[in-house]
Amino acid sequence: MERTDFKPDGRRKTPSVCSTHTSSATSSRALRGLPSVDTLLHGACAARLAAEHGQAIVVRHARELLEEMRQRLRAGEPVGECAGLDEQIARRVTQSLASSMKPVLNLSGTVIHTNLGRSLLADEAVARLVTLMAYPTNLEYDLEAGSRGERDSIVEHLLCRLTGAEAATVVNNNAAAVLLTLFALGRGREVIVSRGELVEIGGAFRMPDVMESAGVRLVEVGTTNRTHLHDYEQAIHERTALLMKVHTSNYVVKGFTSSVSEEELAPLAHAKGLPLVCDLGSGSLVDLGAYGLPREPMPQQMISAGCDVVTFSGDKLLGGPQAGLIVGSRQAITKIRNCPLKRPLRVGKLSLAALEATLQLYLRPERVIRDLPTLRLLMRPKAEIRACAATLQAAVADAVAPGFAVVLVDTDSQIGSGALPEARVPSAGLALAPAGVKKKETGSALNGLANALRTLPKPVIGRMDDDRLILDFRCLERPDELAAQLPQLKQALTRA
Ligand SMILES: *Cc1c(COP(=O)(O)O)cnc(C)c1O
Repeated sequence: MERTDFKPDGRRKTPSVCSTHTSSATSSRALRGLPSVDTLLHGACAARLAAEHGQAIVVRHARELLEEMRQRLRAGEPVGECAGLDEQIARRVTQSLASSMKPVLNLSGTVIHTNLGRSLLADEAVARLVTLMAYPTNLEYDLEAGSRGERDSIVEHLLCRLTGAEAATVVNNNAAAVLLTLFALGRGREVIVSRGELVEIGGAFRMPDVMESAGVRLVEVGTTNRTHLHDYEQAIHERTALLMKVHTSNYVVKGFTSSVSEEELAPLAHAKGLPLVCDLGSGSLVDLGAYGLPREPMPQQMISAGCDVVTFSGDKLLGGPQAGLIVGSRQAITKIRNCPLKRPLRVGKLSLAALEATLQLYLRPERVIRDLPTLRLLMRPKAEIRACAATLQAAVADAVAPGFAVVLVDTDSQIGSGALPEARVPSAGLALAPAGVKKKETGSALNGLANALRTLPKPVIGRMDDDRLILDFRCLERPDELAAQLPQLKQALTRA
């Protein structure tokens, strides 16, 4: 019988029993030749890992690796060289402990990209998390009274000051805010919405389905393109719980259209003793129009228009953590806060800490546009973005040559996350186009390039545009992070 002696460093004296096997006789010989878990643990790498992380995790990966090798051998498949198995274990252990969420470079041109985690937190919000989260905090503890407190109180006064509302509460996200509001104010009764506003937001958030989940009956009024005040008026009767306006955040109805504004609707609602609820979606607290950007309705405008409840997201244009903000009249907010669904939808302390720091930036309007990444990126001047792209053009061209040609281009960024779907913000970047390939091979060349960009240590996410891949430089504030990876990109493309 062939013996496999592993030296403590994991290398065998007898070479490769484990390499390709065909017959069942050699396969069972190879099976017997596999080292034991114990032997593997004596390898230099494995021993070092066990000293750092403890035996248990190393043993688990050693067992898994051996089991996989056994299965492959039984199936008559080659398992490769046996030497260096403990390095393989080390790789597996390290991989299992690495963060699977990693920073990426968003060159997609969409500033608030839901798949890339939406808004980036401001430095002050991050610092707040770092100082607070390793300690017990007064999250729900009134330090003056020495008794139980209310977590909403951490941000309620800020939200009231910034929006002009009487009261405010916070939940996990805006979808939860809408669900909770409808449940608390309308369960078992009817909610009137314009047919032109029955939106579907990505990720299966459809207004009619949310209404059903909240136990309210949807009453649609008007038509897809036109809804009038008398449509609402005629639909109101004793089972009506509230009137609802939904900001059609991810589409526009164009042409022969008419809708009823919050200012017009509020007097009708109030004359009938009903609350007017507005789901704003994004909800910017600063007037983007004042900075040359497309205007987006603001929560403070909705409050002054007479809405009793306004809901919006924490991580869209607000630029904070994921959260659903609900502002409005004291009476409505009290009902919402006391609703049994509030507890399962409540916001966590991580989000609350980051939200408070984010909202405090808005107390200093001159600073917020500089210190809040979402606003800073949106307001970044095109000339600066173009200059940034120009400095990297030659280096990028060198990295992707000879397969791709690189040109400096004007492009348009999008706000993203449904806000202002048609609005484009002028931007600049690099366009990478396959060079010297047949038309029908363009697609696969581009996919290869996009793939190579995604496999970089800080994956780079661009945008396909017909037969080019566009890298929009709007969100690349640190071009060195791209520059540093160009040698690896060149390597990946050469291998491919
Ligand atoms: C984005 C959006 C939502 C959902 O908000 P989340 O914070 O993603 O849960 C709901 N309604 C409208 C109009 C939106 O734009």
